[in-house]
Amino acid sequence: MIYDVNSIREDFPILKRKIHGRELVYFDNAATTQRPKQVVEAIAKFYLYYNANVHRGFHTLSQEASQLFEESYEEIAKFINGNMEETILTINTTDAINIVAYGWGLRNLKKGDEIVTTVMEHHSNMLPWRELAELTGAKIKYVDITEDGELNYKDLESKITERTKIVAFTLASNVVGTINDYKKIVNLAHSVEAIVIADGAQYVPHVETDVKKMDVDFLAFSGHKMLGPTGIGILWGKKEILEEMKPFRVGGDTIKDVTLDNVVWHDLPWRFDAGTPHIAGVIGLAEAVRYLKKIGMDGVRAHDIELVKHTIKLMKEIDDIEILGPLDPEKRTGLVAFNIKGLHHHIVAKALDMYGIAVRSGGHCAHPLHYRLNYQGSVRASYYIYNTKEEVDYFVEKLQKIISVKERLATEPVENVCTG
Ligand code: PMP
Repeated sequence: MIYDVNSIREDFPILKRKIHGRELVYFDNAATTQRPKQVVEAIAKFYLYYNANVHRGFHTLSQEASQLFEESYEEIAKFINGNMEETILTINTTDAINIVAYGWGLRNLKKGDEIVTTVMEHHSNMLPWRELAELTGAKIKYVDITEDGELNYKDLESKITERTKIVAFTLASNVVGTINDYKKIVNLAHSVEAIVIADGAQYVPHVETDVKKMDVDFLAFSGHKMLGPTGIGILWGKKEILEEMKPFRVGGDTIKDVTLDNVVWHDLPWRFDAGTPHIAGVIGLAEAVRYLKKIGMDGVRAHDIELVKHTIKLMKEIDDIEILGPLDPEKRTGLVAFNIKGLHHHIVAKALDMYGIAVRSGGHCAHPLHYRLNYQGSVRASYYIYNTKEEVDYFVEKLQKIISVKERLATEPVENVCTG
């Protein structure tokens, strides 16, 4: 083990909770992670001792709050090897992608242009592009996957043409777990001068991310999937693109001066920061980033691989389990979605809950991907830094128990599931 998971667990009091009389096993980290005490304390400290609006006052509290806010902002930008100028605060990944669609797309696309995305996307990286296509008359094209749940790069090559203006793809799938080859995608997109937007919601929390190395034009991610608070996300963008992009939301803070017939927009990134920002969110996310940096993203990744490898090894021994996505743990991020033959995914999740195991079931906001794989949904176990191999053992043991009574369970309405 790369770091001491047991001492990490001490920072997460929620992990000591009992659910239905059993110790909580929290395997729903792809939906949202838990927050360590350090993050909650940093937010509480701000509200209790430093709270004031930022960039507005000459009084001491406002100056202190502004300093704390900017230091935190800088810390977040550095985490992805960016700088503050290129880092825009958003509500979450969904918001970040919408900002590009409406802020850049609406002003730059026209009828006949093409947007390339993939069938692997979360709805958040699909529906904004569909809206944009509808509004501009652009055409949307979907890159297919292989039977193993990897991106079909031959299909990608055939879909990108001189008409492609935007290529939007996920760095890591929230269902099949696949980590996509950003180099291939970025090179192809840039060869036709398209801009590339990467959905990093399931990647940035799990894999060391360097926007300079990646050479994407935009990167979106959410604080709440990496130990940070909800309501704060990031849109990183290349400076030259942001400089030319008008803010999508305008109002207080986005300007240097306004007369009745002219606006002088503010410098980056403040131009995009309309209204009072989520100050406590930025402070909390910076603390989350410090926490992750202390563990080291190499350690985070190695831990994910270890847990996924263990899960797949155990699941492969069980005939009734069908795993979605590639079986090679190195090709995945820290999650495994699966189905039990003959059992509805919600029944499996409900039964696991009776054992204190929190997993997600359903379409995971990726319905087209499930339909492509001939499923209506799946059960997803998703891991993070505090999960253990022992928890995986317990989880798979309970799956076997569920399978042993599956004929009975299959007839139960979802609300009444009990395997005892
Ligand atoms: N993209 C992916 C791949 C995701 O997994 C998620 C969250 N499930 C999102 C986008 C959307 O994230 P948020 O809800 O934080 O906007």
